[in-house]
Amino acid sequence: MLDTLRRIVQEVNSAPDLKTALDLMARRVRDAMGTEVCSIYLLDSSGHRYVLMASEGLKKEAVGRVSLGVAEGLIGQVGLREEPINLEDAFAHPKFLYLAETGEDPFHAFLGVPVMHHGRVLGVLVVQQRDARRFDQSEEAFLVTISAQLSAVVAHARATGALGSLDTNEPTARFYDGVAGCPGAAIGTGVLLFPPADLASVPDREAADIDAEVSQLESALIRVRSDVRALGERARGRLGPEEQALFEVYLRMLDKHALAGEIIARIREGHWAQGALRIVIDEHIRNFEMMDDAYLRERAADVRDLGRRVLAELQSRNRREITFAENTILLGDEITTTMLMEVPQERIKGIATSQGSRNSHMAIVARAMGIPTVVGIHGLPVKQMDGRELIVDGFRGRLISDATPELKHQFEEIIAEEKDLLAGLEKLREQPAETEDGVRIQVQVNTGLMTDISRSLERGAEGVGLYRTEIPFMVRDRFPSEEEQCRIYREQLQAFAPHPVTMRTLDIGGDKALPYFPIQEENPFLGWRGIRVTLDHPEIFMVQVRAMLRASEGLDNLRIMLPMVTSVFEAEEAQHLIHRAWLEVRDEGADVPMPPVGVMIEVPAAVYQARALAQRVDFLSVGTNDLTQYLLAVDRNNRQVASLYNSYHPAVLHALVHVVEAAREEKKPVSVCGEMAGEPGSALILMAMGFSALSMNASNLLKVKAAIRRVKITFARKLLNEVLAMDNGEVISAYVDLQMEKAGLGDLLQHRRAKLG
Ligand code: PEP
Ligand code: MG
Repeated sequence: MLDTLRRIVQEVNSAPDLKTALDLMARRVRDAMGTEVCSIYLLDSSGHRYVLMASEGLKKEAVGRVSLGVAEGLIGQVGLREEPINLEDAFAHPKFLYLAETGEDPFHAFLGVPVMHHGRVLGVLVVQQRDARRFDQSEEAFLVTISAQLSAVVAHARATGALGSLDTNEPTARFYDGVAGCPGAAIGTGVLLFPPADLASVPDREAADIDAEVSQLESALIRVRSDVRALGERARGRLGPEEQALFEVYLRMLDKHALAGEIIARIREGHWAQGALRIVIDEHIRNFEMMDDAYLRERAADVRDLGRRVLAELQSRNRREITFAENTILLGDEITTTMLMEVPQERIKGIATSQGSRNSHMAIVARAMGIPTVVGIHGLPVKQMDGRELIVDGFRGRLISDATPELKHQFEEIIAEEKDLLAGLEKLREQPAETEDGVRIQVQVNTGLMTDISRSLERGAEGVGLYRTEIPFMVRDRFPSEEEQCRIYREQLQAFAPHPVTMRTLDIGGDKALPYFPIQEENPFLGWRGIRVTLDHPEIFMVQVRAMLRASEGLDNLRIMLPMVTSVFEAEEAQHLIHRAWLEVRDEGADVPMPPVGVMIEVPAAVYQARALAQRVDFLSVGTNDLTQYLLAVDRNNRQVASLYNSYHPAVLHALVHVVEAAREEKKPVSVCGEMAGEPGSALILMAMGFSALSMNASNLLKVKAAIRRVKITFARKLLNEVLAMDNGEVISAYVDLQMEKAGLGDLLQHRRAKLG
């Protein structure tokens, strides 16, 4: 059974489209279970009807035409009960609904299982048989397992709009959900960046000149054939006749009656040579891999090898000239920072990648450059997006293709509004973040790259609340030396002086890896992270702290902050090392005062230790990104649970109140430097709680300032008291939005826009 299952899954997953996948699945399941009928019903886009999408055994004409309401028939029952229904005689069931168009008259035995995804019913998978009999336990288990596989295929099709196009002729926009890498929206043309010599990455493109593509392929084939012949010659004498024969096989494969002919046929259909090559090679690899005979299965490797050789030839003669449109949306499975740097900056309007996380280096750079970005779009068919008009929604974290004119228009308005809003806010640059009734809070920025400096200063930042030192470490291929660090830190300190610059000591681990210091762990977010790494490597810590101290000479605006602290002893040990480093640099002649040292409150343990920590250090700063992740046990980069990640969760809000009170009792300043500080609504709530500073991305600074300047503190305090009495994060979030709208702050709500589409 397992083997059959594996084969069905493999075949279905490599089907070129949903229709083929569903047909294949119906056929294979019917054969594997030896039943007479296997059908797949899926909920239509309205969510009100189950449409018969594929069937082996029922009348073909019924497919795509027959549908049932969600409460109708046995199909409706399976969906409502969200569990399998296994009947010896379906006709005897009170809910049985006879559908004449399907020709199901003769089939008595019925087994239907729901197709579920994330707790929602997407459809029903059914097998039927002529003779009245109950399907046995193992058959039921098999169908349930297959259905779980089907759910992923259907969910993906639904998310990408492929399903919509099956049950309606209306053009539908396709939405690809990922993780917001940098807020903002952009409309432009997709340009795929793909690594060379990688067949799987070759995009689908139309041939500009079919004959030219054919002749490029033919000359590439001539060169590959002569290479293969030369290899065969060289191997003569060293290999036996059987192995020798392999070279002959290769040459035959390249023949125009074999692969070459097929590739040319694809080019004639309109594909460019590299794309045609990929399609044909993929098909052959799939066919070989599905063979029962182990020897034949191995031949897949030969085809892959030949494919690579031809591709290398095609790419070497045909330099990969990429043209970047005026409004380029960069696409790729993974875009490295170096790739990003090779593209003319002024043309990049947006970025979308299928891999990567919010903290991947490219996303950090994109944020620093203010380019709307979406990362980690699982299943994004990048190859088909090349050259298409796309919309990047970096507020919500999704890419949109085939947008309807109305949707495109809505985004054009958002882009224009955002531009106007920012232009209108420019005048706040020199103004303090002060409420109408005179309560002030410091607004600071989170930085990491040099580019952050100018953007922050332009927006009137009152210092740096979080300088992520791991970023300059990430862009190198080795640990930066003390001198290098000193130079980088001095630039930050100097740029913001006399305002304070809070430098966080190296926070690596979790999802922040240094290429030259790999950390392999099963569970990295609960592993060797932040202060845990640096206390185990005092040599790295000491060099960093010494560099910070030396860099601050004459400026005296340095503050040092420790990440991922869980216990008092970690803070004490780090303070001890910092003190030692300070004595050293002073002995060496640097005239620097001992800087304030603070800790980040970003794990639940630190919340309950906040008072003890505040007694020992000079300030606290709450990292709400990690605190939310650890309090709610929701990985901040995992899309599966992204809907559960909510900083308005009552547990997070009450933890924040607890931290403010602990700091107040010890008379120590406390700030917030997570994303929460950068959203106008949550910023007001944090201000009402009593935080003394908010530190955020430079892009959000003016919006937060505007929100603060347009309300009275009494408004924020009332809002805080109301939300603290609520027990549901979703409700709190909606309530805050509503109150902001009512107070005339609707224009500042980012996520209001993200709700579009
Ligand atoms: C946080 O966790 O809230 C934080 C500011 O740190 P980082 O996002 O760098 O983990
Ligand atoms: Mg953190």
